Formats: sequence, C-alpha cells, structure tokens
Amino acid sequence: MPTIALTQAPVQDLTEAERVRIMAKTARFNPPPARLADGRRELIGLSRAELAAELAAIGEKPFRAKQVWHWMYHQGATDFARMSSIARPLQQTLAENFVIGRPEAAVVQTSIDETRKFLFRFRDGQEAETVYIPDRQEDRGAVCISSQVGCTLSCRFCHTGTQTLVRNLGAAEIVGQFMAARDSYGEWPSPRGETPRLLSTIVLMGMGEPLYNYENVAKAMTIVMDNEGIALSRRRITLSTSGVVPMMDRAGAELGVNLAVSLHAVRDDLRDELVPLNRKYPIAEVIAACRRYPAASNARRMTFEYVMLKGVNDSTADAHELVRLIAGIPAKVNLIPFNPWPGSAYETSSGAAIDRFANIIMDAGFSSPVRSPRGRDILAACGQLRTESQPDKAARAS
Ligand code: SF4
Repeated sequence: MPTIALTQAPVQDLTEAERVRIMAKTARFNPPPARLADGRRELIGLSRAELAAELAAIGEKPFRAKQVWHWMYHQGATDFARMSSIARPLQQTLAENFVIGRPEAAVVQTSIDETRKFLFRFRDGQEAETVYIPDRQEDRGAVCISSQVGCTLSCRFCHTGTQTLVRNLGAAEIVGQFMAARDSYGEWPSPRGETPRLLSTIVLMGMGEPLYNYENVAKAMTIVMDNEGIALSRRRITLSTSGVVPMMDRAGAELGVNLAVSLHAVRDDLRDELVPLNRKYPIAEVIAACRRYPAASNARRMTFEYVMLKGVNDSTADAHELVRLIAGIPAKVNLIPFNPWPGSAYETSSGAAIDRFANIIMDAGFSSPVRSPRGRDILAACGQLRTESQPDKAARAS
C-alpha cells in the first residue's frame, strides 16, 4: 500500500491564514466613508500620516498636521476658527475642505449612581451606546466604548447579543465616543502629568467584539494613545474579547493594551452555550493565547470576566476548575453579578454563592473583585446595552 505523505502547515501559518480570513470577513461590515454630503472630509479618525496627506493635498506643509492634531486632540476644538496658531485665511480653507465632527448624543441618561449612558447617532443614522462610570471615591472614571453596532456573537446572557450585527464602527466613531463623552464633562484640554482626569480609562467592553473590528479599533486606540493629543497610556486601556484567538496575539504585539477575556464558563459544553464563539475557539485555545499575551505581567494583570449565573456556572467545583485553568497567569477575576434585561433567561447568583466562589479564587492567590452593578436603572450595566439599529438588508446585499 502506498504511503501517503501528509503535509501539515505550521501552526504559525494557520493562525496567519485565520487572521486574513477574519479581516476579510469583518471588512464587509465596514462603515461608510467619513465624508459629508457636501464633500468635506472628516478629520477625526485619520492617522497622523493620513492627516498630513489630506493637508498636503490642499498645499499645506507637514507641520500643519502637527498643529491641527494638537487642536483636535489636545484642545478638543471642533471649530477651525478656534485654532489661533493658524492664520485666518487658512482656517477658512480648512473649514471649506474638512470637518471635525462628533457623534450626535441622541439621548443622554444619568443614573441615580451617576453613571451616564449616551446613545450616540452616527452620520448614517446608526446608533451605539457608550457608558461613563465615575469612580465614587476619586475624581476619575472609565468610559465603556462600543466597537460595533450590534454584535455577531450572541452570548446568551448579553442584551447586545440579541441585536444583529449592523456594521463596524469606524475609527472616527470609536474615538468620537470618547471625545463626545469628554465634551459632556468639559474635560478639555487633555489633562497632562499629575492633573486628575475625570475620564481616565477606556474599556472596550460596550457593544460588539472589538477583535472582529480590529483595524478600526487599533487605529482609534493609536490616536487615543498619541502623546501630543489625548495621551492616554496603554495601561489605561482595556480591550475585552470573547476569545478571538488569532487576533489576541496581534493585539498584544501591536497595541500592548490590557486584555480582558470574557470567560464565563470553565467547561466547553457550557461555554459553547453561553459564549457560542467557544465552538470555534475552545477554552484550552483561549487560555493558551492568554499565556502568550505579551503585555501581561505581575504589574499588569489580565482580567478574566465571569458573569455569575444562578445554578449555571457558580458552583464551588466551577471555581476550583477556574483556578486550575488560569494557574500561573498574572490575572485577576472580575465576578459580575448578572444584570437582567427584558426577556433574559438567567438569574443572578445569590450573594452567598458569589462570596463562596470569590473566596476560592482569592485563596488561590488571585484577586477576585465582585463588580458592583452600575447604572442598572438606565440599562447601562454590563451586558445590558442595545440599540434599535437594524441592518440595511438592501445595502448589504448589493
Ligand atoms: S458579550 Fe460582547 S461579544 Fe458577547 S454578544 Fe455581548 S457584546 Fe457581543
């Protein structure tokens, strides 16, 4: 019988091929061009090089890009007339060719605990939610940003997962959520050095899976981290993923931001149900990618998110298995009491069950804070975000 030579591609090549496949698929959901109907180009969301190219196209030298960047991202200017270091005639030319926009805050709700939820409407009418969660004790807080309108992943405990993916958000729309939230608190110019920041951290945990919109998210975070603008350090940004394994490696190498992994179950049969992406990237592969994640260290622990669902994933056996899975990873485990939403099928674990679970994790040497629900009265808590945006089927099919 002839011997059949089985040629196997190295793992590295397979991962790269998978990345290419993911990027091609997600590109189909990219946003419309950031340009007004009158032809003016949106400047927010362009990289420095792209901004310089736009200005070169109207005959301006590269140093202008540095000036405009400073006005947009350090001063928070949305009007070229405010750019006092630029002469009037050029201000006029800039205004004729460009615009510095913000998403429209269609609805703003503030919770009794001061959490603020924004429903942002973008130029094509699609909407996404952003939540600012102030720290009660200190002058700072986290802005939870959306990366997509809707989501493809349908996690069973998540309200956003009941909304079909409409489209990816563009870099302008992602940075724009943060900038508009800052407008709302008047936090311009960007605080420097030791000056306290009210909006001090970004968590990419709003609507959507950020690693299924990697290009736009990466571009937006690069803008946010730029030292001559918003200047938020990578240590103050956390990207949350349900475990898109091939893209986790890339985000670690290129962005180096903190990583949060939505684990929620320690057995594949249960995680397949709660986080259906698990059927593609099972727990062992997700944990292996966490072990490879370059930005994780004892000083910068990665986070495992674990929603506490009564009688589903909250047993002591689950807690022991969780400890076994993450042993050796510099990590903390955020326990999230389930936040109900209309039609949700689960109940929150009891306080006693959460304490038991947390103690087992703590005894193993991991910090295991229980996240206190914020903004539940305005459906702004974790897993409660959703908008009425629907895909435009005709446009998608064309
Ligand atoms: S938890 Fe995140 S990834 Fe899962 S459905 Fe909700 S928004 Fe999407």
